[in-house]
Amino acid sequence: MSNDNKTIHDFELKLICDFFSNMERQGPGSPEVTLKALSFIDHLTEKSVIADLGCGTGGQTMVLAQHAPGQITGLDLFPDFIDIFNRNAKKLGLQDRVKGIAGSMDNLPFEKESLDLIWSEGAIYNIGFERGLKEWREYLKPGGYIAVTESSWFTDERPSEIHHFWVDAYPEIDTLPNQVAKIYKAGYLPIATFILPENCWTEHYFAPKVKAQEIFRNKYAGNKIAEEFILLQSDEAELYRKYKAFYGYTFFIAKKVDKTCTI
Ligand code: SAH
Repeated sequence: MSNDNKTIHDFELKLICDFFSNMERQGPGSPEVTLKALSFIDHLTEKSVIADLGCGTGGQTMVLAQHAPGQITGLDLFPDFIDIFNRNAKKLGLQDRVKGIAGSMDNLPFEKESLDLIWSEGAIYNIGFERGLKEWREYLKPGGYIAVTESSWFTDERPSEIHHFWVDAYPEIDTLPNQVAKIYKAGYLPIATFILPENCWTEHYFAPKVKAQEIFRNKYAGNKIAEEFILLQSDEAELYRKYKAFYGYTFFIAKKVDKTCTI
């Protein structure tokens, strides 16, 4: 990558970060859904060690922390998100057991077999579903849990417009039975699978996005990249409205097992 490209790329990243900083969450989800996923996980204590990978500004992490015991580390690639995360933890009085750190999910700063639970909402796609499942498993204690959301196809066939959108954006999107099989194959026992309800997209993601767009539009008036970025965001909401019967996000909760499935 040339220096020029790097500068443009960095500038775009900064814009994207700035945009999403104005939202409580950076992906589809809701407090109710976070708690539903948590309800499938047992044996957490004050000694539990939990990581939230691709935590963003920590919308879901704070909900998790308010309902689960243990130490929670949120990890995200963007230091700006982590600053907001740590401010949020402090505001809620959670700073002693909830800490945000900047880092990458493909190079985790944890000891192998040290985590009781790996959480990741709307973020595993950054490393890829199968790769994330495989690599993150190493960091879980035997019997530890993973709880992730991932985009799924709900049908075997779908209209070509939405098919091509996803194949271009994230070719690893797959059907639910294939995803459950991948979890099993990666060395986990699938515990629960449920589809995120529509309000996780509309009320908790697209609606706050409209507000964030207003702030952004005013701040970056006349900036071409910013305008294009906003247009792209509106496409996403329109596609969802049109094709929500064919795709969405799924929560997968699974438990690390040994090869003979004995835990
Ligand atoms: N979990 C949050 C954020 C989801 S958006 C929520 O549900 O609201 C995806 C997040 O993954 C972003 O915050 C992005 O900065 C982060 N991310 C992207 N690549 C990453 C990487 N390699 N390592 C860690 N975080 C990453």
